[in-house]
Amino acid sequence: MKIAVLAGDGIGPEITAQAVRVLQALAADGLAVEMEHAPVGGAGYDASGDPLPEATLKLAGQADAILFGSVGGPKYDTLPRAKRPEQGLLRLRKHFDLFANLRPAIVYPELAHASTLKPEVISGLDLLILRELTSDIYFGQPRGVRTNENGEREGFDTMRYTESEIRRIAQLAFETARKRQRRVCSVDKANVLETTQFWREVVTEVHGQYRDVELTHMYVDNAAMQLVRDPRQFDVMVTGNMFGDILSDEASMLTGSIGMLPSASLNARGFGLYEPIHGSAPDIAGRNLANPLATILSTAMLLRHSLHQEAAARRVEAAVRKVLGQGFRTADIAETGKRTVGTREMGDAVLAAL
Ligand code: NAD
Repeated sequence: MKIAVLAGDGIGPEITAQAVRVLQALAADGLAVEMEHAPVGGAGYDASGDPLPEATLKLAGQADAILFGSVGGPKYDTLPRAKRPEQGLLRLRKHFDLFANLRPAIVYPELAHASTLKPEVISGLDLLILRELTSDIYFGQPRGVRTNENGEREGFDTMRYTESEIRRIAQLAFETARKRQRRVCSVDKANVLETTQFWREVVTEVHGQYRDVELTHMYVDNAAMQLVRDPRQFDVMVTGNMFGDILSDEASMLTGSIGMLPSASLNARGFGLYEPIHGSAPDIAGRNLANPLATILSTAMLLRHSLHQEAAARRVEAAVRKVLGQGFRTADIAETGKRTVGTREMGDAVLAAL
């Protein structure tokens, strides 16, 4: 099994280095996995004038999964849009048709203090947001700014979903729920938007093949409120690209720690790109301060969803739980005044726990 490691910019190389050490340890223990590195984002631009160099795309195409760090940084902010680091990521998503974005939000008991919500509201939270990633108003045509018939300028975008796009994300939601608590909440705005009324109809049809899973529907405004009122009512939440963008960021903050949250973006054949949800954190880059756990937990998702190595995935997750239990904290998850460790030392602790 081959993994393309695209570390990217800022803290990307530091945090992926720790995830790579974890994979190397598993390989030394018999897991048949090899890794190859290639530049992406600003690093890709520096290497060959393109945020997604041809050789990087080729490597990714030959791999079973991509482990991605993060891209971006002030150095690249003035480049033309096509050369900007985030284009590297957007083009990878498009090229591999990574239509499903999985974002678990888990509250570890040891870190319940890190959330802005009361521990009694969030402790034990284990929620998965499944966001459609390749369609909706972000990609619908036509779009633009024009001068209308009254001579006034107006901006417009098109919200659009085809039946097959809704079907495949709904199927994945039900399949995923079967491995969890068998509950799916589909989020839409069916009272106002035709597209999402259609979304609700198709999700309900697909549910016909998954009667063992409970399906509920919720309007997005209510879902935003319920996420902070009582987030533990949810198991799998499935939604479109725009609503998912907003709700998954809201959900990530229930856990209070951006440095802890992994993600997966999958296509129909299980190939995926795995990355922490945070960015390249230029403010702390190169200082051994970044929390590598989100990337290490992304590696666990990679092992589970693309390499089908459930036992190895669980070992990695158990190791992360263990180091938290032992009291290891990077600065972002530490209680004020408590001792902290650096990126590499956190990696050492995970390896020891593994
Ligand atoms: P960010 O996520 O990089 O940082 C936000 C804050 O969280 C910063 O204070 C940072 O220090 C902290 N932080 C983030 N990750 C951390 C970690 N692992 N450990 C400890 N602290 C951490 O978001 P931003 O500052 O808005 O963006 C910085 C750059 O990252 C921009 O160029 C942006 O475009 C890019 N970005 C990239 C991705 C991606 O690669 N998928 C996602 C978001 C932002």
